[in-house]
Amino acid sequence: MTQSNDLGNWIEEEIKDFMETAENTMQNEANEKAFDVPLVGFSSGDDPLYEAYKDHVGPFHMTPWEIFAIRFADFSVRSDELTVISYILPQTQATKSDNQKENTYPSERWARARIFGEEVNVKLRKHVAKTLTSKGYRAVAPSLTPQFSTRISPKYGFASTWSERHAAYASGLGTFGLCDGLITPYGKAMRTGAIVAQMKIPPTPRPYKTHQEYCLFFTKGICGKCIIRCPVNAISEKGKDKAVCFKHLFPNSMEYVKKTYNFDGYGCGLCQTGVPCESKIPTKQDVEE
Ligand code: SF4
Ligand code: SF4
Repeated sequence: MTQSNDLGNWIEEEIKDFMETAENTMQNEANEKAFDVPLVGFSSGDDPLYEAYKDHVGPFHMTPWEIFAIRFADFSVRSDELTVISYILPQTQATKSDNQKENTYPSERWARARIFGEEVNVKLRKHVAKTLTSKGYRAVAPSLTPQFSTRISPKYGFASTWSERHAAYASGLGTFGLCDGLITPYGKAMRTGAIVAQMKIPPTPRPYKTHQEYCLFFTKGICGKCIIRCPVNAISEKGKDKAVCFKHLFPNSMEYVKKTYNFDGYGCGLCQTGVPCESKIPTKQDVEE
Protein backbone atom coordinates (compact mmCIF):
# COMPACT_ATOMS: atom_id res chain seq x y z
CA MET A 1 0.00 0.00 0.00
CA THR A 2 1.42 3.40 -0.93
CA GLN A 3 1.70 6.22 1.52
CA SER A 4 -0.96 8.26 -0.31
CA ASN A 5 -3.42 5.37 -0.10
CA ASP A 6 -2.72 5.24 3.62
CA LEU A 7 -3.59 8.94 3.81
CA GLY A 8 -6.91 8.29 2.08
CA ASN A 9 -7.74 5.42 4.46
CA TRP A 10 -6.77 7.51 7.46
CA ILE A 11 -9.02 10.42 6.40
CA GLU A 12 -11.92 8.07 5.66
CA GLU A 13 -11.59 6.55 9.13
CA GLU A 14 -11.39 10.02 10.73
CA ILE A 15 -14.67 10.98 9.03
CA LYS A 16 -16.38 7.73 9.95
CA ASP A 17 -15.11 7.87 13.56
CA PHE A 18 -16.39 11.43 13.97
CA MET A 19 -19.85 10.35 12.81
CA GLU A 20 -19.83 7.68 15.52
CA THR A 21 -19.43 10.32 18.24
CA ALA A 22 -22.16 12.10 20.18
CA GLU A 23 -21.73 15.08 17.81
CA ASN A 24 -23.78 13.20 15.22
CA THR A 25 -27.18 14.05 16.68
CA MET A 26 -30.46 15.35 15.35
CA GLN A 27 -31.13 16.78 18.83
CA ASN A 28 -34.48 15.09 19.36
CA GLU A 29 -35.64 13.55 22.61
CA ALA A 30 -34.18 10.14 21.76
CA ASN A 31 -30.92 11.81 20.67
CA GLU A 32 -30.91 9.84 17.41
CA LYS A 33 -28.05 10.03 14.97
CA ALA A 34 -28.55 12.68 12.29
CA PHE A 35 -26.85 10.57 9.58
CA ASP A 36 -25.77 7.04 8.74
CA VAL A 37 -22.23 5.84 7.96
CA PRO A 38 -20.56 8.23 5.45
CA LEU A 39 -19.18 7.49 2.02
CA VAL A 40 -15.84 9.17 1.19
CA GLY A 41 -14.18 9.99 -2.16
CA PHE A 42 -11.22 12.01 -3.43
CA SER A 43 -10.42 14.05 -6.52
CA SER A 44 -7.32 15.92 -7.58
CA GLY A 45 -7.13 19.71 -7.35
CA ASP A 46 -6.08 19.76 -11.02
CA ASP A 47 -9.02 17.65 -12.23
CA PRO A 48 -10.19 19.44 -15.42
CA LEU A 49 -13.78 19.15 -14.16
CA TYR A 50 -13.15 21.98 -11.71
CA GLU A 51 -12.22 24.36 -14.54
CA ALA A 52 -15.19 23.06 -16.53
CA TYR A 53 -17.56 23.97 -13.66
CA LYS A 54 -16.33 27.54 -13.92
CA ASP A 55 -17.14 27.56 -17.64
CA HIS A 56 -20.60 26.07 -17.05
CA VAL A 57 -21.77 27.85 -13.91
CA GLY A 58 -19.99 31.19 -14.24
CA PRO A 59 -16.60 32.81 -13.63
CA PHE A 60 -17.51 33.33 -9.94
CA HIS A 61 -17.39 29.56 -9.34
CA MET A 62 -14.09 28.83 -7.58
CA THR A 63 -11.65 26.03 -8.31
CA PRO A 64 -10.03 24.18 -5.37
CA TRP A 65 -6.78 26.00 -6.16
CA GLU A 66 -8.44 29.45 -6.05
CA ILE A 67 -10.02 28.73 -2.68
CA PHE A 68 -6.73 27.40 -1.32
CA ALA A 69 -4.77 30.36 -2.72
CA ILE A 70 -7.12 32.86 -1.03
CA ARG A 71 -7.08 31.01 2.31
CA PHE A 72 -3.30 30.59 2.31
CA ALA A 73 -2.30 33.78 0.54
CA ASP A 74 1.27 33.68 1.85
CA PHE A 75 1.92 30.22 0.49
CA SER A 76 2.20 29.07 -3.10
CA VAL A 77 0.99 25.69 -4.28
CA ARG A 78 0.25 23.97 -7.59
CA SER A 79 -3.25 22.64 -8.23
CA ASP A 80 -1.91 19.08 -8.66
CA GLU A 81 -0.59 19.23 -5.09
CA LEU A 82 -4.15 19.55 -3.78
CA THR A 83 -6.80 16.91 -3.06
CA VAL A 84 -10.52 17.51 -2.66
CA ILE A 85 -11.90 15.31 0.10
CA SER A 86 -15.60 14.73 -0.43
CA TYR A 87 -18.11 12.83 1.69
CA ILE A 88 -21.76 11.80 1.62
CA LEU A 89 -23.82 11.75 4.82
CA PRO A 90 -26.79 9.45 4.12
CA GLN A 91 -30.11 10.17 5.81
CA THR A 92 -31.13 7.45 8.29
CA GLN A 93 -33.85 4.95 7.45
CA ALA A 94 -36.09 6.49 10.14
CA THR A 95 -35.75 9.93 8.55
CA LYS A 96 -36.44 8.61 5.05
CA SER A 97 -39.43 6.52 6.16
CA ASP A 98 -40.97 9.53 7.89
CA ASN A 99 -40.51 11.81 4.91
CA GLN A 100 -41.94 9.23 2.51
CA LYS A 101 -45.28 9.68 4.29
CA GLU A 102 -45.34 13.46 3.80
CA ASN A 103 -46.99 15.15 0.84
CA THR A 104 -46.44 18.87 1.35
CA TYR A 105 -43.95 19.68 4.11
CA PRO A 106 -41.02 17.85 5.72
CA SER A 107 -41.36 15.34 8.54
CA GLU A 108 -39.88 16.41 11.86
CA ARG A 109 -36.85 14.12 11.47
CA TRP A 110 -36.17 15.50 7.98
CA ALA A 111 -36.37 19.09 9.21
CA ARG A 112 -34.08 18.21 12.14
CA ALA A 113 -31.57 16.58 9.80
CA ARG A 114 -31.69 19.73 7.65
CA ILE A 115 -30.94 22.07 10.56
CA PHE A 116 -29.19 20.11 13.32
CA GLY A 117 -27.75 17.64 10.82
CA GLU A 118 -26.16 20.53 8.96
CA GLU A 119 -24.68 21.69 12.26
CA VAL A 120 -23.07 18.24 12.46
CA ASN A 121 -21.83 18.67 8.90
CA VAL A 122 -20.24 22.03 9.79
CA LYS A 123 -18.51 20.42 12.78
CA LEU A 124 -17.31 17.55 10.59
CA ARG A 125 -15.82 19.92 8.00
CA LYS A 126 -14.03 21.82 10.80
CA HIS A 127 -12.90 18.59 12.45
CA VAL A 128 -11.34 17.26 9.24
CA ALA A 129 -9.62 20.57 8.43
CA LYS A 130 -8.32 20.88 12.02
CA THR A 131 -7.10 17.28 12.17
CA LEU A 132 -5.23 17.66 8.87
CA THR A 133 -3.72 20.97 9.98
CA SER A 134 -2.54 19.41 13.26
CA LYS A 135 -0.67 16.79 11.19
CA GLY A 136 0.99 19.45 9.02
CA TYR A 137 -1.34 19.45 6.01
CA ARG A 138 -2.85 22.83 5.08
CA ALA A 139 -6.60 22.38 4.67
CA VAL A 140 -9.71 24.49 4.12
CA ALA A 141 -13.44 23.78 3.99
CA PRO A 142 -14.59 25.98 1.06
CA SER A 143 -18.19 26.34 2.23
CA LEU A 144 -16.99 27.77 5.55
CA THR A 145 -14.87 30.52 3.99
CA PRO A 146 -16.03 34.15 3.59
CA GLN A 147 -15.75 33.64 -0.19
CA PHE A 148 -18.62 31.14 -0.17
CA SER A 149 -21.77 32.90 -1.33
CA THR A 150 -24.81 32.58 -3.54
CA ARG A 151 -24.79 34.10 -7.02
CA ILE A 152 -26.94 34.07 -10.11
CA SER A 153 -25.59 31.91 -12.92
CA PRO A 154 -26.62 33.03 -16.43
CA LYS A 155 -27.29 29.36 -17.27
CA TYR A 156 -28.56 27.88 -13.99
CA GLY A 157 -30.10 30.70 -11.95
CA PHE A 158 -29.30 30.33 -8.21
CA ALA A 159 -25.76 29.03 -7.88
CA SER A 160 -22.90 29.30 -5.42
CA THR A 161 -19.19 30.04 -5.56
CA TRP A 162 -18.45 26.42 -4.62
CA SER A 163 -20.59 23.30 -4.97
CA GLU A 164 -20.11 20.33 -2.67
CA ARG A 165 -22.37 18.23 -4.87
CA HIS A 166 -20.13 18.93 -7.86
CA ALA A 167 -17.08 18.09 -5.74
CA ALA A 168 -18.79 14.78 -4.90
CA TYR A 169 -19.45 14.16 -8.60
CA ALA A 170 -15.78 14.82 -9.39
CA SER A 171 -14.80 12.51 -6.52
CA GLY A 172 -16.63 9.50 -7.94
CA LEU A 173 -19.54 9.62 -5.51
CA GLY A 174 -22.56 10.08 -7.79
CA THR A 175 -24.32 11.72 -10.73
CA PHE A 176 -27.15 14.23 -11.01
CA GLY A 177 -30.86 13.45 -11.23
CA LEU A 178 -33.74 15.24 -12.89
CA CYS A 179 -34.52 17.04 -9.62
CA ASP A 180 -30.91 18.30 -9.41
CA GLY A 181 -29.99 16.09 -6.44
CA LEU A 182 -26.89 13.89 -6.55
CA ILE A 183 -27.70 10.18 -6.84
CA THR A 184 -25.03 8.28 -4.91
CA PRO A 185 -24.60 4.55 -4.21
CA TYR A 186 -26.54 5.33 -0.98
CA GLY A 187 -29.15 7.27 -2.94
CA LYS A 188 -30.13 10.89 -3.16
CA ALA A 189 -31.43 11.36 0.40
CA MET A 190 -28.19 12.68 1.84
CA ARG A 191 -26.12 15.74 2.59
CA THR A 192 -22.56 16.28 1.48
CA GLY A 193 -19.42 18.17 2.44
CA ALA A 194 -15.91 18.84 1.15
CA ILE A 195 -12.45 19.94 2.26
CA VAL A 196 -9.51 21.00 0.08
CA ALA A 197 -6.14 19.87 1.42
CA GLN A 198 -2.51 20.13 0.41
CA MET A 199 -1.84 16.42 0.02
CA LYS A 200 -1.77 13.85 -2.74
CA ILE A 201 -4.31 11.03 -2.57
CA PRO A 202 -5.19 8.87 -5.59
CA PRO A 203 -8.52 10.09 -7.03
CA THR A 204 -11.50 7.79 -6.52
CA PRO A 205 -12.41 6.29 -9.90
CA ARG A 206 -15.58 7.74 -11.44
CA PRO A 207 -17.67 4.71 -12.38
CA TYR A 208 -19.74 6.80 -14.83
CA LYS A 209 -19.26 8.47 -18.19
CA THR A 210 -21.89 11.22 -18.03
CA HIS A 211 -23.12 13.51 -15.28
CA GLN A 212 -26.69 12.13 -15.41
CA GLU A 213 -25.91 8.44 -15.79
CA TYR A 214 -27.69 7.22 -12.62
CA CYS A 215 -31.02 8.97 -13.39
CA LEU A 216 -33.53 6.72 -15.15
CA PHE A 217 -35.22 9.68 -16.79
CA PHE A 218 -32.06 10.66 -18.65
CA THR A 219 -30.80 7.18 -19.47
CA LYS A 220 -34.00 5.23 -20.12
CA GLY A 221 -36.67 7.88 -20.55
CA ILE A 222 -38.65 6.44 -17.62
CA CYS A 223 -39.39 7.28 -13.97
CA GLY A 224 -39.97 10.98 -13.39
CA LYS A 225 -41.22 10.08 -9.88
CA CYS A 226 -39.61 13.20 -8.45
CA ILE A 227 -41.90 15.30 -10.69
CA ILE A 228 -44.93 13.73 -9.01
CA ARG A 229 -43.45 14.01 -5.50
CA CYS A 230 -42.90 17.77 -5.67
CA PRO A 231 -45.81 19.52 -3.96
CA VAL A 232 -45.35 22.80 -5.82
CA ASN A 233 -44.60 21.57 -9.35
CA ALA A 234 -41.02 22.81 -9.23
CA ILE A 235 -39.81 19.77 -11.19
CA SER A 236 -40.71 19.04 -14.79
CA GLU A 237 -39.16 17.11 -17.66
CA LYS A 238 -36.99 20.19 -18.15
CA GLY A 239 -35.51 19.88 -14.66
CA LYS A 240 -35.96 21.85 -11.44
CA ASP A 241 -37.21 25.43 -11.23
CA LYS A 242 -35.05 26.58 -8.33
CA ALA A 243 -37.09 29.75 -7.75
CA VAL A 244 -40.34 27.78 -7.27
CA CYS A 245 -38.58 25.34 -4.92
CA PHE A 246 -37.03 28.23 -2.96
CA LYS A 247 -40.44 29.83 -2.44
CA HIS A 248 -41.77 26.60 -0.97
CA LEU A 249 -38.84 26.50 1.45
CA PHE A 250 -38.94 30.21 2.35
CA PRO A 251 -41.19 31.17 3.93
CA ASN A 252 -43.73 28.34 3.60
CA SER A 253 -41.78 25.42 5.07
CA MET A 254 -40.19 27.73 7.67
CA GLU A 255 -43.58 28.72 9.01
CA TYR A 256 -44.71 25.09 8.98
CA VAL A 257 -41.66 23.80 10.86
CA LYS A 258 -41.93 26.51 13.52
CA LYS A 259 -45.66 26.01 14.01
CA THR A 260 -45.65 22.20 13.84
CA TYR A 261 -42.32 21.14 15.37
CA ASN A 262 -41.60 24.22 17.44
CA PHE A 263 -38.06 25.03 16.29
CA ASP A 264 -36.57 27.41 13.75
CA GLY A 265 -35.99 25.39 10.62
CA TYR A 266 -37.11 24.62 7.13
CA GLY A 267 -36.83 21.87 4.54
CA CYS A 268 -38.77 19.69 2.15
CA GLY A 269 -36.84 16.82 0.53
CA LEU A 270 -40.01 15.21 -0.81
CA CYS A 271 -38.25 14.74 -4.18
CA GLN A 272 -35.47 12.91 -2.33
CA THR A 273 -37.73 10.40 -0.56
CA GLY A 274 -40.34 7.94 -1.80
CA VAL A 275 -38.55 7.84 -5.17
CA PRO A 276 -36.57 4.97 -6.79
CA CYS A 277 -33.26 6.82 -6.30
CA GLU A 278 -33.87 7.62 -2.62
CA SER A 279 -31.46 5.04 -1.16
CA LYS A 280 -29.60 3.53 -4.14
CA ILE A 281 -28.68 3.85 -7.78
CA PRO A 282 -32.07 3.00 -9.29
CA THR A 283 -32.78 0.33 -11.88
CA LYS A 284 -35.63 -0.13 -14.36
CA GLN A 285 -37.07 -2.76 -12.01
CA ASP A 286 -37.39 -0.18 -9.23
CA VAL A 287 -39.81 1.79 -11.39
CA GLU A 288 -41.78 -1.21 -12.58
CA GLU A 289 -42.29 -2.63 -9.05
S1 SF4 B 1 -36.89 10.05 -9.17
FE1 SF4 B 1 -36.43 9.10 -11.14
S2 SF4 B 1 -36.40 10.82 -12.59
FE2 SF4 B 1 -36.25 11.69 -10.54
S3 SF4 B 1 -34.01 11.85 -10.18
FE3 SF4 B 1 -34.66 9.86 -9.36
S4 SF4 B 1 -34.30 8.41 -11.04
FE4 SF4 B 1 -34.28 10.47 -11.93
S1 SF4 C 1 -38.01 20.50 -5.77
FE1 SF4 C 1 -38.01 21.67 -3.84
S2 SF4 C 1 -40.17 21.95 -3.35
FE2 SF4 C 1 -40.04 20.30 -4.87
S3 SF4 C 1 -39.97 18.41 -3.69
FE3 SF4 C 1 -37.86 18.99 -4.11
S4 SF4 C 1 -37.23 20.20 -2.31
FE4 SF4 C 1 -39.49 20.08 -2.30
